Amino acid sequence: SRRDLPRAQHQIDANRISPNARNTVQTLQQAGFEAYIVGGAVRDLLLGLKPKDFDVATNATPEQVKPLFKRAFIIGRRFRIVHVVYGRDIIEVSTYRALHDAQAAESVDGNERTSRRALADKTLAVDSSGRVLRDNVWGTLDDDAERRDFTVNALYYDPIRDVVVDYHQGMKDLKERRLRMIGDPAARYREDPVRMLRIARFAAKLGFDIDPATLAPIASSADLLANVPAARLFDETIKLLQTGHAVASLQQLRRLGLHHGLLPLLDPVLEKPEGERFIMNALQDTDARIGQGKTASPSFLFACLLWHDVEQRWNALRTEGTAPLMALDQAADEVLAAQAERLAIQRRIATDMREIWSLQSRFERRTPRYANSLIAHPRFRAAYDFLSLRARSGQAEPELASWWEAFQFADAEGRAEMLATAP
Ligand code: ATP
Ligand code: MG
Repeated sequence: SRRDLPRAQHQIDANRISPNARNTVQTLQQAGFEAYIVGGAVRDLLLGLKPKDFDVATNATPEQVKPLFKRAFIIGRRFRIVHVVYGRDIIEVSTYRALHDAQAAESVDGNERTSRRALADKTLAVDSSGRVLRDNVWGTLDDDAERRDFTVNALYYDPIRDVVVDYHQGMKDLKERRLRMIGDPAARYREDPVRMLRIARFAAKLGFDIDPATLAPIASSADLLANVPAARLFDETIKLLQTGHAVASLQQLRRLGLHHGLLPLLDPVLEKPEGERFIMNALQDTDARIGQGKTASPSFLFACLLWHDVEQRWNALRTEGTAPLMALDQAADEVLAAQAERLAIQRRIATDMREIWSLQSRFERRTPRYANSLIAHPRFRAAYDFLSLRARSGQAEPELASWWEAFQFADAEGRAEMLATAP
């Protein structure tokens, strides 16, 4: 049942609301439509956090939204939303939807085997496991609230009336710091297994508890992740690792038993203390960077997560007599190919990862010719950061890392001298 909470009951700080989001809502309302700020932005505002971005929900269709703004673009093929552009800022405007989440639908890959079974309105399709493949059903505000995942993600804020609309007791859960799935949790995981990963992400980011009924079906539903297209799993994993709470997210994933389906190659790594140390150090670095407002590149992250496998393969090939540089490149190819089945790493990112790995063997050659070209390499910095991480985790000689640290900051004379005396 709907509850409208006035200012006294929400105390959202008006200064934290993006003027562009506010303007978008106001423009829509002045044209006679309903419009609210929705989702993560409302949740974060209520928690006193700075929202990452602002989404707007409206009863106007994309075709009705677009002409109201100077720069607006309808995007998405199957499920269309509008991007309202203000300089570098984009406000995402979506039309109220009924029933199910279409983000799951957006990333369906063409070749997966599905027994599509159109439901009542013939716009909804599910695969044999019940996963929703697409939907295009416009709905009302209460429909829109119902198809969202957690109660704290289903709060709507009208910045003009200064009212929060709450259908699922999201405000209560927010105050009690609890993640609760709207509807029947087991059914919602069947529709979209990625919701389980989202739990891990939000539990880590917000430090919320997971409601027992929301938690209970996860153990028996974890296998459903196998049905999710590899490209979508990759996107979700990136989000999880870039929250600034990657360490906590990974711990949540392990606690929920979800990491098996996600990063199968990671399991054996985490079981070995040195492997675990390396990955935890990498994720800690990532969290620290994000905490300082910097970004963490997906290629660096995945290069870390898969390094152990590459290294093992590299060593094996070397033992068999393959030349070190060649062995490393071959190991990289094999690991990326094995991983691709589960998690579709984009080609551009895979190329970067390969480079970071491949440069690791070059650090060992401290001769004038090699060292000077290595330092001029466009990926030198990332590769050096990677080396330093290996050294800190007991996987490379600390001497090697500190030598390169000094070398990159030395002047020409200093470098020549270092090379002359290099081990
Ligand atoms: P963040 O701050 O990390 O962006 P968010 O809550 O905004 O968190 P998004 O992934 O940006 O998360 O999604 C926006 C909103 O869309 C969510 O708050 C939720 O209401 C809804 N949503 C997103 N993904 C799903 C899903 N898989 N199932 C149901 N609802 C979803
Ligand atoms: Mg968001």
